[in-house]
Amino acid sequence: MSRYADIVLPLAQPAYTFAIGEGVEVSVGDAVAVQFGKQAVYTGIVWRLHDTPPAKGVAKPILKVLYDKPLLSELQMRFWEWIADYYICSVGEVMRVALPSIIKSKARCEEEFEPYIPKREVVVTLVAEAFTEDVREKMMRRAPKRYEALSALEEAGGVLPRHLVELDAAVLRALQKAGLVEIGERDYKLDCEWSKTLLPKLSPAQVEALDAIKEGLSDKGVALLHGVTSSGKTEIYTHLIEERLSRGEDVLFLVPEISLTTQLVERMRALFGESVVVYHSKLTPQQRTKLYTDMLSSESGNFVIGARSALFLPYKKLGLVVVDEEHDSSYKQSEPNPRYNGRDAAIMLATLHRAKCVLGSATPSLESYANYLSGKYAYTRLTERYGGVEMPDIVISDTVRNVKRNERKLHFNKELIDGIGERLERNEQVILFQNRRGYSPYMECPSCGWSARCPHCNVTLSAHQQKGRMECHYCGYNEPIQRYCPNCKTAELKPMGFGTERVEEAVAELFPEARVLRLDGDTATSSAAYNRIIGAFARHEADILVGTQIVSKGLDFADVTLIGILNGDNLLASPDFRAEERAWQLLMQVAGRAGRRDKRGEVIIQTAEPNHSVYAMVGDYDKVASKLLAERKQFGYPPFVRIVKIAMRSSNKERLVSSSIELGEQLRNRFGRRVLGPVSPLIDRVRGEWRVELMLKVEVESSFSRARWILREEIAKLRECGSYRDITIICDVDIA
Ligand code: ADP
Ligand code: ZN
Ligand code: ZN
Repeated sequence: MSRYADIVLPLAQPAYTFAIGEGVEVSVGDAVAVQFGKQAVYTGIVWRLHDTPPAKGVAKPILKVLYDKPLLSELQMRFWEWIADYYICSVGEVMRVALPSIIKSKARCEEEFEPYIPKREVVVTLVAEAFTEDVREKMMRRAPKRYEALSALEEAGGVLPRHLVELDAAVLRALQKAGLVEIGERDYKLDCEWSKTLLPKLSPAQVEALDAIKEGLSDKGVALLHGVTSSGKTEIYTHLIEERLSRGEDVLFLVPEISLTTQLVERMRALFGESVVVYHSKLTPQQRTKLYTDMLSSESGNFVIGARSALFLPYKKLGLVVVDEEHDSSYKQSEPNPRYNGRDAAIMLATLHRAKCVLGSATPSLESYANYLSGKYAYTRLTERYGGVEMPDIVISDTVRNVKRNERKLHFNKELIDGIGERLERNEQVILFQNRRGYSPYMECPSCGWSARCPHCNVTLSAHQQKGRMECHYCGYNEPIQRYCPNCKTAELKPMGFGTERVEEAVAELFPEARVLRLDGDTATSSAAYNRIIGAFARHEADILVGTQIVSKGLDFADVTLIGILNGDNLLASPDFRAEERAWQLLMQVAGRAGRRDKRGEVIIQTAEPNHSVYAMVGDYDKVASKLLAERKQFGYPPFVRIVKIAMRSSNKERLVSSSIELGEQLRNRFGRRVLGPVSPLIDRVRGEWRVELMLKVEVESSFSRARWILREEIAKLRECGSYRDITIICDVDIA
């Protein structure tokens, strides 16, 4: 029996050594309660057992073991360690995102978990005696649909899960009353033979893609499915998923934002019934805990649809990970540690499980595309929309020319005004995109130039007309909108620039007869609110939908034939090296929402820079990708180098500056010209804290693990220096 255990606590600290008392039995992966610090009791995870007492002090004892079995498998532990190592943080910080909060705080509460109850499902049973020749014959003539459904039931052996019986609830009740079927419950079991019959029949192009992916997966393990919007990527995934579930393996389907996936979850539930588990961080702690512990007690064969936190569930035998919309930057956790990328972590998780991984996108990230070019990933392309729907026409509308000709009204160029008018006449729908919420990004005094700024952050306050407030989009600070300039007290403040709220107002003025909905962070405050707006627009209860980024994601509206992008220049304005890639992906994603099924769509982009190459090549993925990759190579950006941003923060500006200069010098001693900065970021103060950044660029050819090791060492050295205690240092690996 070992006498000591190294235990990981949910803190930015290394594992600590605790003593294992007489008669206490612990194993690696167990959750235990321990006291740490003066009073606090924490849940910790036993990471290692050994016989070496701590170098200083006496080890405190483990208070109790919290579960009758380990909470983590060996494999999960390796996964946590990989994240901590790669993203330069502690394993304890990984624990913070990986386990539901109740488990983490269980040590402090006595409440017991609900025991695991196997999932139940509703089943329909045919009453064979009642399904006589007579009944059959009548039913075949009068209600062929019922006849077919009952025959299918008979063929399946007389019992099927409810979702596989293709009859309405009312019809089913009538059949039950007539004594033809019984409706009951049983323990859930995925019946793959039947799921298989429900899988959509693939088009020839899709069959070819599916075969290519399967071959690619067995060859390289990771395959990139590059399929234009609406080409049927989801249909292809369902075939791959079915194959894994029928072997009793687990499947993880990752999406960038779970709130946008109602349609997807419904589609999957119709095929795979109760095996579909939806997991994300917006569930209540109770729900998350139940899902985690249920999965711990269940067999494999789970199908999880989730956001990146679903990577941490206790999979027994993962067979497949699908990363949908793999290019989406919301896969990267920006705050707090671990600042991990869900897509990249998914590939690592699949590797640890020897599982397959499919990345899907209409606009693959340059990273993934480069991995295909270099032969690391298999690659399959679907160039046609399902059912032969054409790609939309892209029209570039020159804002400067419109202004010169006096044809621009309230932020709308003539082309867009005419286009909207035509659609309204034909009773078709329009989506208007502006990547800024609120009324205007700032209010300015025309006489003295004063504008309202956040007292805690170095940014202007955005005007929100409906709330009647000026709001900081970084910290949430807000104050009433003022009418007159508080500085010179003479002039009236003027809204500058425009956000979605102002677009909505302009539409009301230009097209008073149109029904308008708005979808942005202010209206889609919950997934219920989001679904309400989307639902109403899908039912054509409105003609125009005004929205931010949200409208570019996963939407499918049959009647939308025009998409207007109000300010293309905005998309390119960010100083980020990814600005152009982002703008281009967004334009292609938005364009993918126009003109589905029987109607050809149109996209009108308003811009002051109509000759920018990004517009000319929107539809030509390979051309843009190779141009951008060449630039990245020339200027030393990913995927040719790995970038670590070292962000330093403090409320004391002076010490922040001196410490960052010192760290910069130390790092330059080790890394030379690979170190950039320190520099002040565009927004150099947020929530009262000053910010400075350093950047480390490591060529992909050199050892990144060695570079991370040196970086950790230098940061530790700086932290040891007493006067820099109050400086926060954060590493952000592979910045998004
Ligand atoms: P993607 O995921 O590539 O954007 P989807 O899988 O959502 O595309 O497919 C777009 C539309 O075409 C959906 O309405 C889907 O039901 C339909 N579709 C695609 N492939 C098929 C198929 N093989 N059989 C029937 N419908 C299909
Ligand atoms: Zn003024
Ligand atoms: Zn602020």
